[in-house]
Amino acid sequence: MFKKKITKFVLLLFILLGLFFFFHGFYFPVNIKGPSISKKDYTLGKMPFNDSIKLKLHVFNTGINKVSYLLAGNVNPWRPVPTFVIEHPKYGLIVFDTGLSAKIALIGNKALHPITRMLFDTRSLKGKDLPSQMQRDSLFPTKVHRVIFSHLHFDHIGNADAFTNATFYVGQDTDLEDMTRMEGFEPDFIAQLEKDHPFKKIDFSKGKPFATFKKVVDLLGDGSIIAVWGNGHLDGSIGIFVRLPKGIVFLTGDEVVHFDWLKSNDVQRISKNPKRAAEVRNRIRMLEKLRPDILIFPGHDFPKVPVNRTDIVIHHPELFKNKAWSLNN
Ligand SMILES: [Zn+2]
Repeated sequence: MFKKKITKFVLLLFILLGLFFFFHGFYFPVNIKGPSISKKDYTLGKMPFNDSIKLKLHVFNTGINKVSYLLAGNVNPWRPVPTFVIEHPKYGLIVFDTGLSAKIALIGNKALHPITRMLFDTRSLKGKDLPSQMQRDSLFPTKVHRVIFSHLHFDHIGNADAFTNATFYVGQDTDLEDMTRMEGFEPDFIAQLEKDHPFKKIDFSKGKPFATFKKVVDLLGDGSIIAVWGNGHLDGSIGIFVRLPKGIVFLTGDEVVHFDWLKSNDVQRISKNPKRAAEVRNRIRMLEKLRPDILIFPGHDFPKVPVNRTDIVIHHPELFKNKAWSLNN
């Protein structure tokens, strides 16, 4: 009799759980408050900076993607996949992230590893990968000598092999072994990149404080590009500050995936190191408060660029609208 009651109870529990998952899905927020950041943490440090360095930032969009409900719950609309080209008067063209690959435009999601296909939906179009767009706009990929990756997820490394003359830079803690297994979602492509262009790691061990961050590195030694130790989104993930003539911009990579992410405490299931992700988020929130003039470009979103920013060139603005990537095109 008692056994029967237990069986009934277990059965009821399963039905209730089943109904719960049916109506609510499998997503549970990963709410992490993280440490509070003090205003005292803000410093511009002693980075050398030569005002005569006139950088220009070129912004491209290479497609849109959407993470599954399983990873991000309801906050998962289609989002852009931007990439950046910095024009430096001394060092020439420097790329930050290379976006989605042309393969996705040709064969859609099938271009991606089967597990990646389950977790992301992705759209691109023929000729709209970064090297093709750059070539068309006379920023030649073969003239690029440095490519900096915020991290090695598939939507940040597409067609990186087109930058044949470039040295590739990643954050110090990037685990290339993990990346060439499944962590990067494109294990074979990353293994090939590593073979052809061994990644150089940005060493943060002697990093200095800058803005609201504890460890940054002045990449070129002239204060123009400052790499920020992130490690929230993924081991080794980074962002960069770029000191443009009309003001600083912060390209955050997926340390800030989108602006919604800054508004909530949910670091979602897309952060490899959730506690660190919450700390970085809090540091960026404080930065926003103290320096609203710094323009933040998240990994998958666009800020409103003031019209007077002649130091920022938005290439093909029509591609910055989701409808440009519709399946009917
Ligand atoms: Zn991404």
